Amino acid sequence: MSPSIRVTVWGEFRHERTNPLVAALYPEGMHETIAASLREHPDLSVRTAWLDQPEHGLSDAVLSETDVLIWWGHMAHSEVGDAVVAKVKARVLEGMGLIALHSAHYSKIFKALMGTTCSLKWREANDKERLWNVNPSHPITRGLGEYFEIPSEEMYGEPFGIPEPDQLIFISWFSGGEVFRSGAIWQRGHGRVFYFRPGHETYPTYHHPEVRRVIANAVRWAHSGVRLTDICPNVKPLESLPADSSAATRETTGYR
Ligand code: ZN
Repeated sequence: MSPSIRVTVWGEFRHERTNPLVAALYPEGMHETIAASLREHPDLSVRTAWLDQPEHGLSDAVLSETDVLIWWGHMAHSEVGDAVVAKVKARVLEGMGLIALHSAHYSKIFKALMGTTCSLKWREANDKERLWNVNPSHPITRGLGEYFEIPSEEMYGEPFGIPEPDQLIFISWFSGGEVFRSGAIWQRGHGRVFYFRPGHETYPTYHHPEVRRVIANAVRWAHSGVRLTDICPNVKPLESLPADSSAATRETTGYR
């Protein structure tokens, strides 16, 4: 059997401790519900981390042992330390996968990797969401049909202030009339990034079977299998080069 993919599910873990409705849906926290669904897959080795731990639970050791990081944050994006964000970004560039869920569109780490506003329209009004699978041959949509539905969700609408995705995976339609690019992927350095929209805290979205399937598929897709530390070396040639070739080049081109 191939070695486990090491997953860290990061949760802000604030709404669950202040809002009884959210606590009833996610008694151990949203991060633990997501982690439990991933632990059903024997090829995944899953841990959790949250905001109020030292270093937000993301020490150098934890990041070193993480192949794919899942991020859910909302009310406390500003409390995430810039030093931790810088370390997470560096790990993504080295090859760690990142899955940004729902309101993580406004997390410091997602914005840092996108370089754009990541703003969108929103409404909390029990819209139905229909997610269209616009990339049926992509590993993230494995096992899904043409579309799936979430009976009640927060609405996110276009325009979504993201850079052009490398590939679109899902487009959502909402019963209020809006559409949204609700699943999209980007390569950043050696790391693979997936944004997946569903998951407002007052709905049971992370108990939804298709949502859980998408997250598990995305973990496997986001696992690059490499860790390539950033270096910028001055190197010797692999073959012997003609003597003083740089001077000869300068003579022929006229460039100095
Ligand atoms: Zn929300």
